[in-house]
Amino acid sequence: MSACIFCRIVSGEIPAEVVAREPEVLAFLDVQPLADGHVLVVPRAHVPRVEDLKPSAADALFRAVVRLAGPVREALGAAGTTIGINNGDATGQTIPHVHVHIVPRWPKDGAGSVHTIFPRNVKQKLPEVGAAIRKALD
Ligand code: AMP
Ligand code: ZN
Repeated sequence: MSACIFCRIVSGEIPAEVVAREPEVLAFLDVQPLADGHVLVVPRAHVPRVEDLKPSAADALFRAVVRLAGPVREALGAAGTTIGINNGDATGQTIPHVHVHIVPRWPKDGAGSVHTIFPRNVKQKLPEVGAAIRKALD
């Protein structure tokens, strides 16, 4: 028996309101929705963080997000969706199994954009940050 709640949902051991089943991906409603239609899209394989995803799982995950975004928005009569991933403990990720949040949005729904998460705590110049990331990619 897995300790991971999302692995247990994937295996059918605990119930969820499933909206899409694919060979490598499952999508289900968040049990504590931030808005009506709040969907979580997860890889079937247990992977803690985005950078741990195998290419095929990454492809399948993002393809599922692309496939779901329109129908989720339309089903709820929403104007858009905020799509996000808390990636790692420090970001507020509470379940260490990759999951993409798709949250329907309406004009003046009281929620902010991704930009509102951050206090803009910036200390470094763009060229030095760019160089550091390019080096890490080598
Ligand atoms: P995060 O903070 O990004 O790790 O989000 C985890 C999400 O999982 C939260 O929005 C929870 O409401 C949701 N969640 C926790 N347990 C369940 C569950 N059993 N079924 C569906 N969603 C869950
Ligand atoms: Zn898991």
